Amino acid sequence: GQCATVCPTGAITEKSCVSKVWGALENEDKHVIVQTAPSIQATVGEEFGMEEGSIVTEKLAAALDKLGFDKIFSTDFAADLTIMEEGNEFIKRFQGDKHLPHITSCCPGWVKFCEHNYPDLIENLSSAKSPMSMFSAIAKSYYVEEMDLDEDELYVVGVMPCTAKKFEMNRDELIETGSETDAVITTRELVRMIKEVGLDFANLEGREYDDMMGTSTGAANIFGTTGGVAEASLRTVKEKLTGESLGRLNLGFEGINEAEIEIGDETVNVAIANGLSNAAEILDEVREGNSKYDFIEVMACPYGCVGGGGQPVPATDERKQKRGEGLKNMDGAKTIRKSHENPEILKLYDEFLGEPLGGESHHLLHTRYKERERN
Ligand code: SF4
Repeated sequence: GQCATVCPTGAITEKSCVSKVWGALENEDKHVIVQTAPSIQATVGEEFGMEEGSIVTEKLAAALDKLGFDKIFSTDFAADLTIMEEGNEFIKRFQGDKHLPHITSCCPGWVKFCEHNYPDLIENLSSAKSPMSMFSAIAKSYYVEEMDLDEDELYVVGVMPCTAKKFEMNRDELIETGSETDAVITTRELVRMIKEVGLDFANLEGREYDDMMGTSTGAANIFGTTGGVAEASLRTVKEKLTGESLGRLNLGFEGINEAEIEIGDETVNVAIANGLSNAAEILDEVREGNSKYDFIEVMACPYGCVGGGGQPVPATDERKQKRGEGLKNMDGAKTIRKSHENPEILKLYDEFLGEPLGGESHHLLHTRYKERERN
């Protein structure tokens, strides 16, 4: 994963990541699979003249197929897996009154900020890997086994909303375990590749994502926008604890949003922080010991990943909001809207992982963080 660290301004980084991916696609000895983050299906269409907030999942899969990837998979699949692990982790903490508030860890921009500025809260971070990193860990174990591939034959590419995901790809603890993503390109870099080969994206005939790691629920789709991770987790948490469904949270896209969720006789207090300055406000309260929250979602970008730095520009607030609404509508239209009902996830636990938070899950799907110099 060298391409993330070459150039601090990102210019050379972009170039070398795209050429690395082309190199892998042209290499006959490599089996190259791709995962697209939940937000991408709501943003990439803009670059091809489509309306803001258009959901282009099938055309995106078709474009990736034409670029030559061997399998077209979605990070959304792994977002459902993150919910299984993180939801169960939260239940354990909540019932044991330990390491609360629970703080989400799927945004690498936020995790790094925490490591630099709030190292005392590292134990509150979810130890669950992000969907991108869970995907790659499962690809390099389960998928390799199912497909009878040699370990060094597989090459995993992520299409991601920001360059922070390139930083995540290179985190030592992922590389040490050989579970890292091999290359990360942003939405705009993918657009460059699509334009380079002259695909008429808007008129492509769509295709489905591939089986095994390509099915996702509505819960996973909303990971791409703010509040989505919290809503998706609590859907699974509430149902597991009470058998009752969670109603829509209808959280806003900006500032700090709050929700109180009744779970049996107890109330789970939830906060969503959009952007790091809003996060700092909440975290200072946690540090001082007067926070009422049990579950905090932090996204470094206002509007969440639909507002990421690697998405199509110019990205006005209005445009980001439409992208977020696109994902929420997608969730609303899905027949399966809860992560614990994703058939591919159930199969994965049944055949390979065992239980959420079990030995194999812990080994492959959880990670650690480290204190960094203050900045
Ligand atoms: Fe990247 Fe922003 Fe999403 Fe964080 S919120 S993962 S920085 S796009």
